[in-house]
Order: sequence, then structure tokens, then C-alpha cells
Amino acid sequence: MMSFVSFLVVSISGTLEIPPLFPPSFPSSKLLTTRQTLSPSISMDTKPNPQTSTQLRRSTRLTSKRIPTITRPSQPVPKNKTRDIEDCFSQDEADSVRAALLRWYDINQRELPWRRKHGCGCAGDAKERRAYEVWVSEVMLQQTRVATVVAYYNRWMQRWPTVHCLATASQEEVNEMWSGLGYYRRARYLLEGAKSIAKEGRFPRNATELRGVPGIGNYTAGAVASIAFNEAVPVVDGNVLRVISRLNAISSNPKDSSTVKHIWDLAGQLVDKSRPGDLNQALMELGATICMPKNPNCINCPVSDQCRALSLSRLETSTIKVTDFPPKVIKSKQRLEFAAVCVILVQNDSCENQKHVTENFYLLVKRPEKGLLAGLWEFPMVLVAERRTDMESRRKEMDEYLKNLKLDFGEEFNLVSREEVGEYLHIFSHIRLRMHVELMLLTTKGGLNQLENQGQDCQVVWKFVHDSTMESTGLTSGIRKVYNMTQEFRSKQMSTNTQEPKSKLKRMRS
Ligand code: SF4
Repeated sequence: MMSFVSFLVVSISGTLEIPPLFPPSFPSSKLLTTRQTLSPSISMDTKPNPQTSTQLRRSTRLTSKRIPTITRPSQPVPKNKTRDIEDCFSQDEADSVRAALLRWYDINQRELPWRRKHGCGCAGDAKERRAYEVWVSEVMLQQTRVATVVAYYNRWMQRWPTVHCLATASQEEVNEMWSGLGYYRRARYLLEGAKSIAKEGRFPRNATELRGVPGIGNYTAGAVASIAFNEAVPVVDGNVLRVISRLNAISSNPKDSSTVKHIWDLAGQLVDKSRPGDLNQALMELGATICMPKNPNCINCPVSDQCRALSLSRLETSTIKVTDFPPKVIKSKQRLEFAAVCVILVQNDSCENQKHVTENFYLLVKRPEKGLLAGLWEFPMVLVAERRTDMESRRKEMDEYLKNLKLDFGEEFNLVSREEVGEYLHIFSHIRLRMHVELMLLTTKGGLNQLENQGQDCQVVWKFVHDSTMESTGLTSGIRKVYNMTQEFRSKQMSTNTQEPKSKLKRMRS
């Protein structure tokens, strides 16, 4: 019935770019001036002089104002800028923060599967196992909530309990296991990293070696080295950045590389030599559970006495809030793109043991092995211009695309319907992709075997997937939403169809 020829590569452009970086519009020097009054431990005076304090408080009133959102274009930061003493923690401050954090963490840490220890003074294998667990959990936790990660982590560890087991997995299997977590690049790097470690024969044991593994950067290297191998190195993730920005009332742009370096230096000052892993986890835990972005729980915070943002917010007539730190950076505007998506569903009717059986299969195409969402499966999708988003134009573009798949259904297949399902807006970091979704339903009685050897000379890889395995197939998160949307559409259709005879019957009776 339909014949589809040649090739076309689908592209949802949407790389995860960081928006342009901007400098602070509030001079940190003004904030730092106030700190000498607020925190006597860093003052050159052994005792605060009440008169001086009053004067400084007055000057604080003059300078304390709302920290505005950063909007101005970036200016170069002098490379050899020397750091002021106020930019760092004093020895006393670092000691107090460290002690308070560890005390708090010992009592309040959450029970999480990746925190289970494998005995004290772990032997080599146990340490490697812990390193692998920390690595997997930290990668999963990037951009994903703890509550979501726990189930994924447990399933992952059941399937690949060691780095050597993971190294034997295929990308397809890893994508399936990752399905639903999003940011699939993380899964690809985990597999590449595992293969590289297995090839070397041993797990790297310090941050420097760990950074040599594909996909492991400063953050993951610091987490694994400090938690599994007790190396005194810092870790800075979004939570730590927020906590340290508030502790030190840092008002510079958190996306600026000089600010990030400053925060890493401060985290390095805090790291505990005997319990580096616990200290790092305490900082992260504090950011996740107490020092939250919108509603920090300062009353129950173990380091509130050392928090400069809190002190500033409590100054008489101050309009500063702790949530002003770190300052917000306005994101670059996202561009809007449009795509036509065609969900092709083939229903195969057969007879088994004198029973009528209907099986559903979906057509999926594989994204290119390199680039955004590499190697993942999606429904046939083609980008369209905004002026061509009407149904007729979209279908024309989609038909062209489908021809390129070199898929010939022949006469064994019947086109039952082609209906509009609706729109779904998928948000990437700098793209809003509006997907116009349609459902094409075909039926056959002869099974799908006849399609098996088709499309071999096509540059786009495609396959039919039984609906029972759709849940475990590595789909992009946008396509999974489209799939759910189509399922809802079909169940509504089916319930309408089953209700129809009843209403007809009612009408006949009346
Ligand atoms: S006192 Fe408040 S703002 Fe400061 S670190 Fe604690 S929770 Fe965060």
C-alpha cells in the first residue's frame, strides 16, 4: 500500500549550552566591609569595639540594598587578581563550619542505598565497589531528584553490581535501563568510563587519575575520591555552590568561571582531612534539605552562626534576603522550533488456539550515534518551518520523510486511520520544541516478518517494537511524553467506541 524510499536524518537541535556569563552588579566589596562587624573572628581586633561596630553598622545601612538580578554583559576578570583575606574563611571559621556540619550530618544524614558502607577500613575490592556505587549514584543525581534516582540506582546495581559487569553491557541495554532519567549522555559516559576502567584493570584511586576516565569531571572525581578513597579533595555541585555563596555572602555571578573557582577554593578550605567524604556529603545534604534555593530553613541550620547572608538579612532596615545569594542569572531566550511527529501503530490480528489475538507494534527510528540524544529511539519526526505547521504541510513533509525509510508495507497492510493527536511542547535548555503529533493506524493479518529485511540500505535505522516493551525501550523523554499522549488518545477513542452501541441502544428503546 505504501512505499517509502531513501534517507533523512532527524534532528531536534537542542544542545545543553550554558547561557552567557555576566558580572555582578552589586559590588561584593560593600558586602565584605560589613563582614568585619558581623564576624569578629575574622577581624584584626581581638574584641569588637562597640563604637567602631556602630560606625560600621551605619555604613552597612548605607550600602545594604537589594541584590539585583545579573543582567549586564560580561567584562573580563583580571587574571592575576589577588584574593582578599575577606574572600576566604578564617581558620576559626573553617573549623567551626566543619565541626558543625559533621555533627549535624552524623545525626541527620538520609539513609540512601549508595551510602551503605562495605565494612570499615575497606579492602581493595570493597573500596572499588564503593567507588563504583558513588560514581553511578553521583552521575544519576545530576539533574535528577534523589527520590527518582533510588529506584533506578537499585535496578542498575542489581543488573551491573560492579564496574566490570557494566563494561560488558551494550549501549542499547544501558539506554533501556536509563530510560526515563533523561540526559542520556550521562549513561553513555558511564558505559565508556566503565569500559576504560575495565581495560586498565583497576579503579583509579585519586581525583587526578579519576579525571582521566571518559565522562568524569572535577565534581565526580572529587566525590568518588573523597567518599570512596578518603582523599581530602573538595566537591562543588549546585547545592554546595549555593551553601558556600550564602555562607560567604558571595554576590558575584555564579556562572562566572572566576566565581566558580573561588567557590572551589572555599570548599577546599572546608574539606576535612580525616573525614573528607562525610564533609562533602554534609555540604551537599545541607543544600538539599536545609539551605534550599527558595525557602531555606535557617532556624534549623547547623551553620547559621557562621552564615554571612543570614547576618546581612538580619541587619536593621536591610532589604537583603539570604535567597539573594547566589544572585540569579537571566537565562538566554529559548528559540521556538516545530516538528511533525507521526506515531505509526501496526495492529497484527492472528488466531491462537482458536482465540482472536491482536498485537500492537510501533515504528521507531534511531537517532544518529553522535550528537544530541545519540543512539536513542524516537517516533518518525521531522522539523518543519513555523509557516508549515498546518496539517496538510506537515503531512506532506512527513510523507517525504517516511518514503526515505525504504519501508514497503505492500498489500498485506491496510491504512485504517490517520488522526491528529495534539501538540506537546518539549523544553530543552535553549529550545522550545513544539511537536505536532499524529497517529497512523495500520492493520495486518500476516505478521511483520515480511518487513524484516527492508530498509537495509537506508541510512536511518528503524525497527518495530511490541507495545509490551515500549516501557523499557530507551526513548527520549519528549518521545516518552508523546507515547503517553498517544496512549491516552487511544484509550479515549476506545472508550467512546465501546460506549457508542449503548447510546444507540438507548435511543432505540426510547
Ligand atoms: S543560615 Fe540559612 S542561608 Fe545560611 S547556610 Fe544556613 S540555611 Fe543557608
